[in-house]
Amino acid sequence: MPSATAESAYDPRARSCAWCYAVLLTTTTGGVGSGVSCAACPRSFCSGPCRDMDWSTHSFWCGKAGEKGVDFEICHISGKGLGMIAKRSFERGEKILAERPVLTTTNVVATCNDQTNTTAAANESIRVAAMSLTPLQGSLDDKVHANGVCLESQDPEQPTPPPPPQTTTTSNSDDKENSEQDDDDDDDNMAAGLFLTFSRVNHDCLGNADHYFDHQHGVELLVANHRIEAQTEITFPYTRSGKQRQICLEWRGFTCHCKACQIPFWNDQVNAMCTLDSRITQLGGCSCDQKRAKAVQSAKTLLVIYDRVQASCRDYARVHYDLFQILVLQNDTMPEARRHMLLAHDYALSFCGYDQHETVLKYRGYVDHPERHGNYRAID
Ligand SMILES: [Zn+2]
Ligand SMILES: [Zn+2]
Ligand SMILES: [Zn+2]
Repeated sequence: MPSATAESAYDPRARSCAWCYAVLLTTTTGGVGSGVSCAACPRSFCSGPCRDMDWSTHSFWCGKAGEKGVDFEICHISGKGLGMIAKRSFERGEKILAERPVLTTTNVVATCNDQTNTTAAANESIRVAAMSLTPLQGSLDDKVHANGVCLESQDPEQPTPPPPPQTTTTSNSDDKENSEQDDDDDDDNMAAGLFLTFSRVNHDCLGNADHYFDHQHGVELLVANHRIEAQTEITFPYTRSGKQRQICLEWRGFTCHCKACQIPFWNDQVNAMCTLDSRITQLGGCSCDQKRAKAVQSAKTLLVIYDRVQASCRDYARVHYDLFQILVLQNDTMPEARRHMLLAHDYALSFCGYDQHETVLKYRGYVDHPERHGNYRAID
């Protein structure tokens, strides 16, 4: 049988070592040559040492996430270049991919200034694989800039501003959450990671998947929004900026041809999601009853659109948490608030995939003890 050897040219479509990304030779039956596999799942490596190195980031998700060449493949997609195709069906919330960053920066901007701060040893085969990313003629720093993914924990929530202090004696209403929101302005200073397979997933303004960096286990997860049939392309939206998205996409160097960019009805849905989101944030914490009622109505409309576009569990979790944060302000809406908190928890658990995830734990805390939330009965 042919032995698994590193090729000088990396081909993202080929089976490769899950640790060093060296291309593995495949047998005539499609199996991997003399490489080694994980003892508990089909994940393949060029050697035992690579398998051992991988275990620290693989152990938690072993058998719980898809593998290249087994569950999905990277291949040519008409009009798009490379992309990811499901080889089997995935259910809602299922983890399509769990991948560690081969290179991380503490600051993408610094990276662009040639001050790459690598925390992973970019050995030769990883470097070769990274150089196959876009822009094809670019330097490694250009690749990081174009393909880097934020590594900050992305809590599935959107803070609702607390009511103004003059309306209530509890002015402590979630100062912490506001500071989290302020942190969002510092995107340029956030750590970013380079993921060699995840980077091949194409954009779609609606998309059938979503992703997050599981920093508790050091991997990027790609999560199915809804059932994805075999042979379907797997995509996610690179931006959620509604009407502004074309500008964002042009900046990334391409024009989108998804159904939202071609059919006015779906375009309206994408734009409405963005508008409703900001309305919830703006009005959810107002002391004025009518404005809060409008925020609640916007959230409920948003949930209807989510059903229509088959949004990710993370989106549902965030909106139910928003509703909780608004409805928990008053005693007479407490039962409804608790219902939404339970739903937020269940969706977050489906998305994150384990009950010890920090967001899931936090939501569990509010399910059991809504009175611990800063907004609790802050208005009545
Ligand atoms: Zn290897
Ligand atoms: Zn495994
Ligand atoms: Zn589009």
